[in-house]
Amino acid sequence: MLTANSDIHAALKKYFGFNKFKGLQEEVVKSILSRNHTFVIMPTGGGKSLCYQLPALMQDGTAIVVSPLIALMKNQVDAIRGLSNEEGVAHVLNSSLNKTEVKRVKEDIVNGITKLLYVAPESLTKDENVDFLRSVKVSFMAIDEAHCISEWGHDFRPEYRNLRHIAKRIGDDIPIIGLTATATPKVQEDIIKNLGITGAKTFKASFNRPNLYYEVRPKTKNVDADIIRFIKQNDGKSGIVYCLSRKRVEELAQVLQVNGIKAVPYHAGLDAKTRSSHQDKFLMEDVDVVVATIAFGMGIDKPDVRFVIHHDIPKSIESYYQETGRAGRDGGEGHCLAYYAYKDIEKLEKFMSGKPVAEQEIGQALLQEVVAFAETSISRRKFILHYFGEAFDNKTGEGGDMDDNVRYPKKQKEAKDNAKL
Ligand code: ADP
Ligand code: MG
Repeated sequence: MLTANSDIHAALKKYFGFNKFKGLQEEVVKSILSRNHTFVIMPTGGGKSLCYQLPALMQDGTAIVVSPLIALMKNQVDAIRGLSNEEGVAHVLNSSLNKTEVKRVKEDIVNGITKLLYVAPESLTKDENVDFLRSVKVSFMAIDEAHCISEWGHDFRPEYRNLRHIAKRIGDDIPIIGLTATATPKVQEDIIKNLGITGAKTFKASFNRPNLYYEVRPKTKNVDADIIRFIKQNDGKSGIVYCLSRKRVEELAQVLQVNGIKAVPYHAGLDAKTRSSHQDKFLMEDVDVVVATIAFGMGIDKPDVRFVIHHDIPKSIESYYQETGRAGRDGGEGHCLAYYAYKDIEKLEKFMSGKPVAEQEIGQALLQEVVAFAETSISRRKFILHYFGEAFDNKTGEGGDMDDNVRYPKKQKEAKDNAKL
């Protein structure tokens, strides 16, 4: 298919109202329009959805989009419908639909109205759905959050392993597009292999976040007081404090409140109403700080989060990157402060002990990287980017001086020694 550059830009404007592509989007769109298998690696917020939505809207037929979370699919479908006058342009196909609704979805697809069909991987394993999709025109299949296919990813979903075979059954020559924000070379290999897209055109954006400052402090028994001091030095700014356990979240939120800090707790043990009220308070800036487990953050888009504190060190560099990545989305200051004690690593190891051996081994390997990161004396940005397979020179690279090791080399060594005591 031949598409002039001007057509792509016109379509971007027409469907999304944007004047410019972000990062590698244009190249990705062209690759998909040329019916290549395509692999897209971009950090969260990089604009991956548009990479497949735009070519889907521009082409005949329906693009099948596989996504692991029903809530995310609904959001996307609503957003696409909001851009178009035609409600049937995007649909979700899942087990929650009744017969009439399924009929409507299928009619819209058959009539060529539906450009994007979002499906959960479970629904795609159903024969009747596969048979139906075989019988209609499919433009391509996009696998969002493609890291779910890998045991090395943070969110392994066994059903993702079938997608390759299902795509084959739906059509022999359907282009497959994998998209992920997981940048480790191991996960990438897994994705390519399991989707069967060797030779896919690969587009990888930089994972550098030059405006984030990375700092690791030894975790002592005075950690709470240290956090309070830090927050008070950053009075009036928005921040997130991550803790491992719900109990710790509750305790720390209280300690902060008692010390005059406007803070609320957030974890999956709170009822839905409290959770959404606390989240709203944070977004509306009625409170400055959310103390949370990792349950907080998925899909939270507050651009001016000024600090992310890890009261407990996370279980992988990926998690650390994702969680710290919620700071400084607007490009402004973002201080990422993690507290580290080897004791906490042992705690995390203990959590894994009930799991299958293979999973434990992977968990161990991921944890060892966290230890190496916490204890390193080299540029933390260099460490993170290297972990993601990206070369970085902190003398010349953007944000090269934005971490404790580069700024205060000596002090850091003492801190390291203290952490071992
Ligand atoms: P990802 O899936 O990579 O995390 P999203 O697809 O959710 O990212 O996009 C993140 C944000 O970027 C969205 O608010 C989206 O509207 C915006 N965005 C995407 N592409 C562009 C663009 N070309 N110009 C301006 N904003 C864009
Ligand atoms: Mg996305």
